[in-house]
Amino acid sequence: MESSRTACPALQADQLRHLVDAIQEFIVLKDGQGRWLVANQAVIDVHELHDIAYLGMTDLELGELRPQFRAIFEYNARTDEDAWRHGASLIIRKSFLGLDGRINTWEVVKTPHFDAQGQRHQLVIVSRNITDQQLAEDALRASEAKYRLIAENMSDIIGLLTADGKVDYVSPSIEHQLGYRSEMLLGRALVDYVHPLDSDPWAEALQALAQEGHSRHILECRLLTHRGWYRWYELTLTPTASAIAIAIAIANNNSWDQLLLSCRDITERKRYDEQLQALAYRDPLTNVANRRLLLERMGEVLQHATRSTKAFAVLYLDLDKFKPINDTHGHDIGDRLLIALAKRIDTLLRPIDLLARIGGDEFVVVLRDVSASQAEDAARRLCDALQQPWMLDDLSLRTTSSIGIALYPDHGDSVHALLLHADQALYSAKRSGRARIAFHGSESGFP
Ligand code: GH3
Ligand code: MG
Repeated sequence: MESSRTACPALQADQLRHLVDAIQEFIVLKDGQGRWLVANQAVIDVHELHDIAYLGMTDLELGELRPQFRAIFEYNARTDEDAWRHGASLIIRKSFLGLDGRINTWEVVKTPHFDAQGQRHQLVIVSRNITDQQLAEDALRASEAKYRLIAENMSDIIGLLTADGKVDYVSPSIEHQLGYRSEMLLGRALVDYVHPLDSDPWAEALQALAQEGHSRHILECRLLTHRGWYRWYELTLTPTASAIAIAIAIANNNSWDQLLLSCRDITERKRYDEQLQALAYRDPLTNVANRRLLLERMGEVLQHATRSTKAFAVLYLDLDKFKPINDTHGHDIGDRLLIALAKRIDTLLRPIDLLARIGGDEFVVVLRDVSASQAEDAARRLCDALQQPWMLDDLSLRTTSSIGIALYPDHGDSVHALLLHADQALYSAKRSGRARIAFHGSESGFP
């Protein structure tokens, strides 16, 4: 330093001095024995060295002259020694009560220089006050800890997904909810855990978010549990921009690169909905469809048949002489007979057919995609099966049933007309002696 830098013209040295003094950070240069060679204005001010010839003094000597800072000077001397021993830049963070009455945090960088013989030459010390930065870091850490605490203790599942639906973060509540450890799901596509019947709404949600930009999307779907069954969740997807996206300024009004996911367990509500649905659409005694569901389903079957030009049959079925059974054996036995009857009919139907109870001992069967002769065969099979004995505990009962048949499109092209004509055919089967089937329009039924 002596050789090259003392060669600077006086003006340049002055300029250098101004420059060093203008710097807010603390700058001190010491020789190999710890004697002060240079200190900028910030150092002089804070240590109150204005009227002291500090140059050439060591920290311990300065501590004697400024006892109020003795502890600081002694600390400096100790950490200077650490830097010399370290042999390279040493970074120290220290906090102490500042003149402003608050805890100040300093970051001190001490860089030792050795001469050609490896002897201690000079020590450059630069300190900066990082109190505000430290406070911001502490606040961020505290707020992160707070949100992590919330995320990790809430019962809803929350997570972050990449724009294409892969899991970036998921709260530990997933373990309690679905049985997975959260780290197991990292990097996996969430759609792999969505029920196959819900994967279309899921894909549509992602697509809608991509198109609409910043709106949030709510959907209900089933998620696979670790044990292999599904639970219902309400998923809220909110597009957000990650810190990286913000930092590199790709986030604008319409751009996001991750989705905030929140999943609320709605399994109980769905179960309740299903129960309500069952109450509204099921016959409470036999648990088959009720009149309301029959009318809705028949409407759908009719639409399908109209489009596909396929036929279907409506069978109106009624137990013969049911009243005397109630009278003889009691209403309970009558009920159990109705339940057994519904079950037996059901076992004889295909999955695409429909059975409904629409009154006391009146049932309607809709046979889809059948010709007249197929409908007749099916009705006859039913009629025969319903003549087989019923075993209700120790009681063995025999009954017969009558069936009226109306065909679409030959006997009507509306739900109402088909039901009316099947009912009329049933009436004609009853009138002809019961235990038989009858087509709409035929004079009498045939056994
Ligand atoms: P038919 O041969 O002409 O059909 O005469 P039926 O004795 O079967 O009498 P009908 O079909 O006209 O009347 C049905 C009877 O079913 C009337 C009622 O006593 C009985 N019933 C209606 N609902 C219930 C029920 O929920 N449970 C029981 N046990 N009986 C019922
Ligand atoms: Mg009857």
